[in-house]
Amino acid sequence: MRMRAAVLEEFARPLVVQEVELADPGPGEVLVRLVACGVCHTDMYTASGVDPSGYAPTVLGHEGAGVVERCGEGVRLVGEGDHVVTLFSPQCGECVHCVSPLTNLCLAIREQQNLGYLPDGTTRLSRGGEPVRHFMGTSTFAEYTVMPEIALARIDREAPLDRACLFACGLSTGLGAAMKTAAVREGSTCVVFGAGMVGLGAVAGARLRGAERIVCVDMSGERLELARGQGATETMIGGEDAVQRILEMTDGFGADYTFEATGNVAVMRQAVEAARMGWGLCTVCGVAGRGEMLEVIPRLLITGRRVCGSSFGGLKGREDVPALVSRYLEGQIDVDPFISHRISLDEVNRGFELMEAQDGIRSVIEL
Ligand SMILES: [Zn+2]
Ligand SMILES: [Zn+2]
Repeated sequence: MRMRAAVLEEFARPLVVQEVELADPGPGEVLVRLVACGVCHTDMYTASGVDPSGYAPTVLGHEGAGVVERCGEGVRLVGEGDHVVTLFSPQCGECVHCVSPLTNLCLAIREQQNLGYLPDGTTRLSRGGEPVRHFMGTSTFAEYTVMPEIALARIDREAPLDRACLFACGLSTGLGAAMKTAAVREGSTCVVFGAGMVGLGAVAGARLRGAERIVCVDMSGERLELARGQGATETMIGGEDAVQRILEMTDGFGADYTFEATGNVAVMRQAVEAARMGWGLCTVCGVAGRGEMLEVIPRLLITGRRVCGSSFGGLKGREDVPALVSRYLEGQIDVDPFISHRISLDEVNRGFELMEAQDGIRSVIEL
């Protein structure tokens, strides 16, 4: 079929919205009609050309939600008409990681996905007979996508898809970091560095876990206001003395849990140092640039602080994303304040500009 999609033709150039070919879903694959898609930093990072593993041409986008249009041979996990959220982090349910409760990093299709191919090593996207590669296994800046069934989370049909798409990446990453990776305890003190999509998700997750104090640190008063809306009990403007101020707020000890959601390694160090002696757990969610190093004073670890990382919030997508969407439908997660702009596919580059200008949290493309 022919469809419209935003193609990254050349790094550091605007995406080009155009018609491309999308082949039928193969065995185990599903054709999804996309309804909405968030614009995320990872899309912009790849488009900029700074990501050394990037490639072009490709159709970007990974925060998609839509409706299953057609299933390829042997598909059993979803059916026509199902509402789905796209998963860049799939869940095959069978690999050594999927059967372990200790990680969400499914191994099934990793290699081909990273190279821009579907699991059989080919693409469904093309243009004039030339293959166009997939991005993050999702390619959701488009009217349709073909994805493996293991990379689709079937959600409640009641959930509006323009909100549900946010659960495809940043929001779930933050919620999961607090609820699953750190498994924040009731009554604890949490500090969240960064009030972008991931950080705000971590604030909401800490609240849902019953944290007593949730301190959010960011450079923008506007974003800190949003953090209060998600359950932050205290906020502060970041800076070199952030750790000192957090220690002062916590009787000199630091927080039970800290979360890093900026990707800045200097802030990561602060998140480690703001964790409490004895048991403080620092969860790193932000993605640092390739080659960057995190400095940690070993004595801080000997005295009981722990550091861990969280990819996609430690969530096993097909199980955990629908559960989060249900909590949203129950009124426990307030998604609307995250949607700052609604744009069309043709305005996708404006979505990048808004992000660069730090204007709002998320632009959602309505397809
Ligand atoms: Zn993302
Ligand atoms: Zn797996």
